[in-house]
Amino acid sequence: MKQQNLFDTAPPPWESDDAEDRMFATVVLPETPYGPYDYVIPPDLRDRVEPGRRVKVPLGHGNRSVVAYCVKVYAQNASEPAEARRNWKEIRAVLDTRPLLSGKMLRLTEWMSEYYLCPWGQVLEAVLPLGVRTQAGTRQVRLYSVDPAIAEQIETLTLTPKQRQILRHVASSPQPLSIADIRAAVGCAEQPIRNLERKRMLVAQTERIYRSKLEEKSVPRLDRHSLNEDQQRALQSVMVAVHSQQPAVLLVHGVTGSGKTELYMRAIDEVLHFGRQAIVLVPEISLTPQTVARFRGRFERVAVLHSHLSPIERNAHWQRIAAGEIQVVVGARSAVFAPTPHLGLIVLDEEHDASFKQDLVPRYHARDVALQRARMDNVPVILGSATPALESWQRACEGSYQLIELPRRILGFPLPDVGIIDLRTETRNRYSSGSISRPLRQAMQDSLRDGGQIILLLNRRGYSTTIQCPACGLVVKCPECDLALTHHRSEEIAVCHYCDHQRPSPPVCPDCGFDGIRYSGTGTERLEAEVRRAFPDTSCLRMDSDSMRKPGSHEQAFQKFRDGEIQILLGTQMIAKGLDFPNVTLVGVINADVALHFPDFRAAERVFQLVTQVAGRTGRGPRGGRVLVQTYSPDHPSIIASSRHDFARFASVELPIRREHAYPPFASMIRIIARGEEELPTEAFAQEFAGLMRSAAEERKLEMRLLGPAPAPIARLRGKFRFHILASSLNGAGLREVVRAAASKAVQPDNVLWVADTDPIEML
Ligand code: ADP
Ligand code: ZN
Repeated sequence: MKQQNLFDTAPPPWESDDAEDRMFATVVLPETPYGPYDYVIPPDLRDRVEPGRRVKVPLGHGNRSVVAYCVKVYAQNASEPAEARRNWKEIRAVLDTRPLLSGKMLRLTEWMSEYYLCPWGQVLEAVLPLGVRTQAGTRQVRLYSVDPAIAEQIETLTLTPKQRQILRHVASSPQPLSIADIRAAVGCAEQPIRNLERKRMLVAQTERIYRSKLEEKSVPRLDRHSLNEDQQRALQSVMVAVHSQQPAVLLVHGVTGSGKTELYMRAIDEVLHFGRQAIVLVPEISLTPQTVARFRGRFERVAVLHSHLSPIERNAHWQRIAAGEIQVVVGARSAVFAPTPHLGLIVLDEEHDASFKQDLVPRYHARDVALQRARMDNVPVILGSATPALESWQRACEGSYQLIELPRRILGFPLPDVGIIDLRTETRNRYSSGSISRPLRQAMQDSLRDGGQIILLLNRRGYSTTIQCPACGLVVKCPECDLALTHHRSEEIAVCHYCDHQRPSPPVCPDCGFDGIRYSGTGTERLEAEVRRAFPDTSCLRMDSDSMRKPGSHEQAFQKFRDGEIQILLGTQMIAKGLDFPNVTLVGVINADVALHFPDFRAAERVFQLVTQVAGRTGRGPRGGRVLVQTYSPDHPSIIASSRHDFARFASVELPIRREHAYPPFASMIRIIARGEEELPTEAFAQEFAGLMRSAAEERKLEMRLLGPAPAPIARLRGKFRFHILASSLNGAGLREVVRAAASKAVQPDNVLWVADTDPIEML
């Protein structure tokens, strides 16, 4: 203390006597260099620096100011010499008035950073919606109240009449008022208010307020159904899990229309009962007004998080959720991060759906994040699907998930009959021309005659899927992606479905000039033309991402179909999911093989899921329904199993294949993708990386299988060459360690980028 008196200004902190009282913060940055870095917390910021808030810190030699997330605060370890930290820089400012992330969310994001091999700061930036970070929809206002000592003397002080009026009004208000409030109530200018502030009779504080209130649409209340026997039995198991407050996982395998959603809502009832909240995750595509209305009709305070929210709306929802004002959050993938203060249950509907995996960094899977979050919070998770992912099914078979079966449809409607049409015989015998076989056409006629509606699925958009010159063999390809272009007839353009490159469709071969260039292969646009020709008096509507560009067009189309204005609905997988139209008596699958031969170990599973899901769109009413599946592979196990609605059979054929090849769910897999402008350095980098992974695995005695590097199935995308490595191992943590070790040693050329994809879904 004596020494301090010798200085006018405070001495440098490391020379102070109370060095052991110094506080430090660990921060991570949202962009490179990501950190973590430690900084000194200056005394005047001590009560404001805390984990979950953002701060400004000096970085690098130039000490430029950057934004960072504080993830930890700690006091100096007394055993450590203060010398060790003498050059540490200080935090400059605190940006947030309260933490944007709770301690639990910090732990969850830290886990994601480890699991998905992605810097923590990058995870935080991705998890926190933009609107929350920018506090969208709020503004700073100065709010005035009367100094308490002054309040008692308003009538005796010397004041102008306006000033007295102002003080009276503000003093009588139960909460502080803004200038605009005061001016409107008293009818004064700004000047007298400022004068009172200068005299310290009015005291001002600065606060953030919301500019907009969320508008709440009122929806009709919906009654609960009385549960059928299967649902009742299922609910009992769910209740046990909900009451146990354990991170139990329940896999509800229920055929389409078996009343899964009803079951979720009963479970949520129970959770709300003891003051907790629920999160319901659904694929974006099933976030329809129909689904939303069901939840809004049952629960008082529901927040719906969909991808079309403005940053302002998103922030407003986020704040209300964090304040505990919301009971049920319904949303797509990212709703798994909803900041519910007392989470009681997470539900994932259509848990097999690929849209739960994010294809940008961090490449997380909402199912796995949900499972992790539930483990940390000790709450149960319900996974529901008619076609569970094999990952989930296998865990249920092993007993780590509890399996709940709903094998029957509500009200006893049977599952539809599924017929297989062998396109090989049709072609050989020249029975059919075009893409609708004779039996399918006959069934369509029958259905229409009886007043039924029809759904046709073809999972390829456009008119012709290849443009090829029969004289020189040239296939018209994307100059950026090395993939065949699809002809779109309405605009007469050839389009790349990966990067959207477009060119006019060539009337003659662009290479040799031959004028008989061939447009072949059928997409939805050609199918539509064919249907219109074959059924000229029937109304038909095409749904794919080309025809449904405008916001709201999905819902309009479904409404028309529901109202019976449309008889035939045809489209891509957009029409395969979750829809409930009792009058659909026929579903036709135009070509079940489209995805069957993809270079992807999940190809068979995808085909099974798609065919089963679309088949589930019929037979939902008293008129019954049937399904016809056209295929060149009628003996394929996926096709046979889906035609029998037999998930267990499909799994029993497919799982041994996965086991034999050590694919998930039997091993953990990480895919490394390197991409670059030039082919050779990109390939060389991938080679180097694979080599480093091999030696890291050897050092650790990790059993690892490594495929590649090889050109990715899409070897060029948006002008970049792509190479990939597929690594798998029974030891997932070991595998991640190997990737980290390789990453720390690999020398990355400037023009080559790489990413790691843990549990990859996309294999192209
Ligand atoms: P899933 O989610 O399995 O497809 P839903 O919960 O959507 O099934 O149920 C299908 C239809 O049956 C819905 O229209 C729903 O309102 C109705 N439903 C569900 N449970 C019952 C029940 N116990 N009694 C009568 N109708 C029911
Ligand atoms: Zn392209």
